Amino acid sequence: MGEMNNPLYKYYDGKFEKQKQPYPGVQSEMHPIPDCGEESYVGSEKLKNRKALVTGGDSGIGRAAAIAYAKEGADVAISYLPDEGSDAQEVKAVIEKAGQKAVLLPGDLRDERFARELVHEAAEKLGGLDILVLNAAIQQFEKDIKNLSTEQLTDTFTVNIFSNVWMLQEALDHLPEGGSVVVTTSVQAFQPSGHLSDYAMTKSSQVAFVLAMTQQLAEKGIRINAVSPGPVWTVLQVAGGQPQESIPEFGQKEPLKRAGQPVELADTYVLLASDSASYITGQVYGITGGTPINH
Ligand code: NAD
Ligand code: MG
Repeated sequence: MGEMNNPLYKYYDGKFEKQKQPYPGVQSEMHPIPDCGEESYVGSEKLKNRKALVTGGDSGIGRAAAIAYAKEGADVAISYLPDEGSDAQEVKAVIEKAGQKAVLLPGDLRDERFARELVHEAAEKLGGLDILVLNAAIQQFEKDIKNLSTEQLTDTFTVNIFSNVWMLQEALDHLPEGGSVVVTTSVQAFQPSGHLSDYAMTKSSQVAFVLAMTQQLAEKGIRINAVSPGPVWTVLQVAGGQPQESIPEFGQKEPLKRAGQPVELADTYVLLASDSASYITGQVYGITGGTPINH
């Protein structure tokens, strides 16, 4: 605690081995395994007694948020695809070790009925819902727009933006005054890569969604913000998110010359969910290693 580090070298800054997994990928099979704060995040009761739902909470950035929330005293439900059950079990163990309740809710957010019911099931099993983190996403690279299939376009838009709308609609039955919504967007919303066109379009849609919802939710005493990560070492990137040739130097073009680790985003998710952020709504937080997130 309080230790000062050079950000260039604080986490892994070498080259990554090429490694390929089928979508959605399993984090425990990565080399090196991302740091989601299992040991490194230390909590201090900033979210005592809160109830949180984090989509895609089995791995990567969602897992870092879920673990940090539990270590800050929240009970946490996570959603994930059934194929990710082993990652989810690891998260459950960390949440329970922190002395909090863990609720596992596997299912596919391409299914509207599942997406809607997920919110009510989380609220029922947690005994309420104070924090909603819309974080699950599909990212599959495609270098040629001619080859972008309608199936991929539909899946990416359904999970990355439609499910956000469906889940927020349902969550408004539960979120109390003081509740918080955090949406994971991306630097791709502002600086899209040619090979991520469908993904980038959904990420800029999420920014518009957050900004559009700010006014509506403010009237109910609920805040909504977005986190906009740059390159973060997660399984999404090796499970079709990037071509293999981009993996070894992933993140090294940033001013901080390395990929981020999911735990480096955890404090921002905690801040945005907590009462310390009582005057923070309608904002987009860049955590990019240095690339600006302006339009
Ligand atoms: P990740 O693969 O660890 O997490 C994404 C999660 O989305 C998966 O764990 C999975 O549970 C969930 N998901 C995917 N398809 C789903 C479906 N059909 N139904 C239900 N759940 C589904 O990767 P991550 O990088 O931690 O991604 C989390 C968020 O961060 C995403 O919104 C992503 O766009 C965003 N992001 C990541 C990076 C990065 O470099 N890793 C950069 C910018 C933004
Ligand atoms: Mg996962």
